[in-house]
Amino acid sequence: MSIETQIVDAVIVGAGFGGMYQLHRFRNMGLTTRVFDKASDVGGTWYWNRYPGARCDVESMAYSYSFSPELEQEWQWTEKYPTQPEILRYAQHVADRFDLRRDITFDTKVLSAHWDEGVGRWRVKTDGGETVEAQFLIMATGCLSAPKEIDIDGAASFRGPTYATHSWPHEGVDFSGQRVAVIGTGSSGIQTIPEVAKQAASMVVFQRTPNYSMPAQNRPLDPDEIAAMKAKYRDFRKAQRESGFGVPVPQPTMPAGMDTADGRQQKFQAGWDEGSLVAILTSYTDTLTNATANNYAQEFIRDKIRDIVDDPQTAEDLCPKTYPMGTKRPCLDTNYYATFNRDDVELVNLRRTPIECITDKGVKTTDAEYEVDTIVYATGFDAMTGALTRIDIRGKDGQSLRDVWADGPVSYLGLSISGFPNLFTVTGPSSPSVLSNMMVSIEQHVDWISDCIQWMNDQGHTVLEATPEAQEEWRAHVEVQGNLTLYPQADSWYMGANVPGKPRVFMAYIGGVGVYRVVCDSIAAQGYYGYVTDGASAMAAK
Ligand code: FAD
Ligand code: NAP
Repeated sequence: MSIETQIVDAVIVGAGFGGMYQLHRFRNMGLTTRVFDKASDVGGTWYWNRYPGARCDVESMAYSYSFSPELEQEWQWTEKYPTQPEILRYAQHVADRFDLRRDITFDTKVLSAHWDEGVGRWRVKTDGGETVEAQFLIMATGCLSAPKEIDIDGAASFRGPTYATHSWPHEGVDFSGQRVAVIGTGSSGIQTIPEVAKQAASMVVFQRTPNYSMPAQNRPLDPDEIAAMKAKYRDFRKAQRESGFGVPVPQPTMPAGMDTADGRQQKFQAGWDEGSLVAILTSYTDTLTNATANNYAQEFIRDKIRDIVDDPQTAEDLCPKTYPMGTKRPCLDTNYYATFNRDDVELVNLRRTPIECITDKGVKTTDAEYEVDTIVYATGFDAMTGALTRIDIRGKDGQSLRDVWADGPVSYLGLSISGFPNLFTVTGPSSPSVLSNMMVSIEQHVDWISDCIQWMNDQGHTVLEATPEAQEEWRAHVEVQGNLTLYPQADSWYMGANVPGKPRVFMAYIGGVGVYRVVCDSIAAQGYYGYVTDGASAMAAK
């Protein structure tokens, strides 16, 4: 029996923080909306990534919605850095409070979205067999939601259980008495290794590239500091929006080379003690743009690793040396380096002895076969583009997004793609997104998209599309900005370098969320410069 096609104003794909807020805004604008998520509940990232130790590394009172002062005042965060269960409870509370779930269809994957030029609508198909048509299609599919395929030979032959950090079992995993292998030492690996090691009988960590990690210095929040933040929340939110990374920090005033060695040591130590992702990176004006300045910060972290880790060879293996600090996502940890002082934890440096394959018994490197009972993959994501290209998205003239992005993603502002009318991406490639506190970027994008659609309705436009010229201007600008920094030097997921065969493009805008907001606002104020509406320039139409 075929299900009748429903026609709505908007379809939103994804019910993480992006999709949830977008739904709330559309409701208030009076748009009929359907939301789809393949998860069974809201929360996105925080629904899926339930591995032991999973935690945000932006402070809880900053990593939360700002759109509702009432919500802000009533919700009580308990720790400086919230755990995954606490963030998920927050997402669920938001869903309850704003009655969001009634428009969300869970356990449903969007398979395709095709633009029907004739009717000016997106035709969206799901794996539930449903087809929905919508004037607007909002992709709130997440930057870090499409797991990277396991690219190690023999992975299927392992006879024990395997787990992946990005889709952890809801019932949890008991590692007691188990010999565990962990593959991957990015943020997920670094968070989960100390926790799993506490439980397991033994652990072998397979590290291909070491990361720069700093102690989170996590702690319970004091009622007085919560009250103080709640009293100044409006000002704090404004400062977040105007900041570089979505986290207000004092702006550095001098390049690292102008300070004394002692001065640098003191500044970096203060950053280390603060337990913040950006404190060391923002100690000086040129840490992310000047290799020598960056090396001062690198050396500081390497010395810390050498201090903490007892075995000199293990310490040296844990020291990142092949890329500038900050150009792969830095990590915050709790006892990560100290975990390698445990007698039952071993580090295998895959640069010296690469993995040959997974066998039925464990992990085989060029040097040895490590027999284990369980393998944990913390091998990351097909970031930024994966969630979008896994959907069969076709715009004008049937052109496929996969083809358009074959040489790397192109986008106008990370919000729109030329040739794909009325489609918006929340924190899409070439916006600040993953280089920021993502709650700030998500809210900014959702607000901008909502205001744009309201403007279209007010002006009587039904179709809006980015021009190829504006898109190319923005692409070139993002590239120039990226090339002013050290980011392109790293084989990072920011560059697409973690996924074999993925084009090497720096996929985020490094200008900062404050500057980016001004750009987006001015584009709107100019009557949506760079867009055409219903065949006419938006500016001219205004
Ligand atoms: P997501 O939360 O990723 O939600 C996207 C949703 O879309 C998912 O639920 C997914 O199931 C759904 N979806 C995708 N494709 C389809 C489809 N075809 N059909 C149906 N549903 C689909 N950011 C920070 O700022 N600070 C942090 O400390 C931080 N920590 C993180 C820790 C981890 C482990 C990870 C993975 C990411 C972290 N991030 C962090 C980034 C995080 O993704 C964002 O902060 C934020 O949660 C993203 O929200 P979102 O709604 O944009 O996307
Ligand atoms: P990731 O940073 O991409 O790390 C993946 C790890 O797996 C890397 O060490 C990688 O090595 C390794 N790896 C991948 N394929 C491998 C292979 N075939 N053989 C051996 N090793 C392999 O992924 P992630 O840790 O899931 O984190 C992704 C992003 O999510 C983070 O950067 C961050 O933005 C976010 N996150 C944040 C937090 C937080 O603290 N709040 C926690 C988790 C995730 P190479 O580096 O050599 O490729």
